[in-house]
Amino acid sequence: MTKGDPWPETRLFVGGDLRPAAGGRTYDNVNPATATVAGVAADASADDLDSAVRAARSAFDAGNWASDRDLRVRCLRQLATALGDHEAQLTDITVTEVGAPLGACAAVQVAEPLKLPSYYADLVDRTRFDTQLGVAETLGGPADRWVERVPVGVVAAITPWNVPTQINLAKIAPALAAGCTVVLKPAPETPWSALALGRLVADHTDIPAGVFNVVTGSDPQLGASLVADPRVDLVSFTGSTETGRRVMEAAAANLTRVFLELGGKSAHILLDDVEDFAAASLGAVFGMAMVAGQGCALTTRILVPRHRHDEAIDALAGLMSVVAVGPPDEPGTLMGPLISARQLERVEGFVQRSLDQGARVVCGGERVTGLDGFFYAPTLLAGVTNDMEAAREEIFGPVLVVIAHDGDDDAVAIANDSPYGLSGSVVSADEARATAVARRVRTGTMSVNGGVWFGCDVPFGGMGASGMGREMGSAGLDEYLEIRSFARPAPEVSS
Ligand code: NAD
Repeated sequence: MTKGDPWPETRLFVGGDLRPAAGGRTYDNVNPATATVAGVAADASADDLDSAVRAARSAFDAGNWASDRDLRVRCLRQLATALGDHEAQLTDITVTEVGAPLGACAAVQVAEPLKLPSYYADLVDRTRFDTQLGVAETLGGPADRWVERVPVGVVAAITPWNVPTQINLAKIAPALAAGCTVVLKPAPETPWSALALGRLVADHTDIPAGVFNVVTGSDPQLGASLVADPRVDLVSFTGSTETGRRVMEAAAANLTRVFLELGGKSAHILLDDVEDFAAASLGAVFGMAMVAGQGCALTTRILVPRHRHDEAIDALAGLMSVVAVGPPDEPGTLMGPLISARQLERVEGFVQRSLDQGARVVCGGERVTGLDGFFYAPTLLAGVTNDMEAAREEIFGPVLVVIAHDGDDDAVAIANDSPYGLSGSVVSADEARATAVARRVRTGTMSVNGGVWFGCDVPFGGMGASGMGREMGSAGLDEYLEIRSFARPAPEVSS
């Protein structure tokens, strides 16, 4: 038992053991709000990864996890309790390694995701995994046919750094509930959020050894090796579209199944009958601020009616100006830092190139002074057309671009003129009109008049370059199930 050990947990979780990486190797975990080293995490080698995959394979093939649904339900409930009891530790970790403000931790970063294990325990508890098709006349005579849904097998869960606890749990809760075994490989920037899950599983659940494993490391090759491993049955990946392509290519060599949650460049559509553009854009601006623009589903293209363009710009600039940027552990902070110096430079590059292409900074457009971390000011760019880089590519920083539209059809055309298809929102004084427009935008999720779709039971995922498959909800469980069909001879066809 390790219940008395300090937090954060820095050890790998492999084959049921919390243990250092081979040779005791560690790497630095940097606090983005201070640009200083907050501590270390285990720096796994290829051998550590191999041990984790071997443990997951053997737990799936030889253990009772896949077949014992009651055990799974009980263990997921134990995990849910442990997570609830450690919300303070998980919040500390998220503030420190993500730079997430406390308010974001109380919502999308930590509090909401902690509900996922209970949700999937309940779902699995009440789900039938077999379907009786009945007796039918077949090519071989009468047969009694049925279908069973069974776990896919060993899951490689590869996750990004922006909302780590949410994404880690949105993968491991349904995967474990389905009866799969898991190797979780988080982003190098956010190891502690994942290692915490290993610790809680080790200390507070009866999840058998090898069913859940966590491998952290600084080497980008770790993820690639995991995807290429023929012992893996499903790669469940969340990250950038560019990496997603590489994952799919590598998985193709073994024909390993892939489930991809990738980038987005979603539109917030303000129709011309909206009375108050500021009120209609609260979700777009404050949602962006909560994660410093580092969210795949954020609506970062603001489509405004051309004849009310200047009014919309004023309203949006007013909202941006009240976003409190500061240290994430200060209660008044709405927006924290970007994850890294590299990300800060990347955002600066996007803004500079936008200016070079004719865009105009309405507010922001620079680093925040007086703070040591990787802070960038909330930025509004006007004069953007949908063919410019800032409108087509995911900036992953606190930058909103304003694009004029000429009515509902034009707004839909602009929204759909994107390689991505993850999310979006529409606001109108007429809800039926907003709903009709929302239906025409080709994305996985849409908000109508400010409605919030985020929740354990709501499937989330993308079309086009935003990926394939759905996370959360019962669709999120289906991703981890394989369908098998059976038939046995029957005496006669029932009427
Ligand atoms: P990233 O693609 O750089 O990395 C994601 C994960 O993949 C990390 O764990 C990384 O170590 C690993 N990785 C890197 N190269 C790999 C390879 N060749 N094979 C296998 N794994 C590899 O993304 P990031 O910078 O960590 O996160 C930001 C991106 O994630 C953004 O594009 C964002 O839109 C996307 N994202 C998508 C969703 C969604 O649900 N659609 C949610 C959050 C973030």
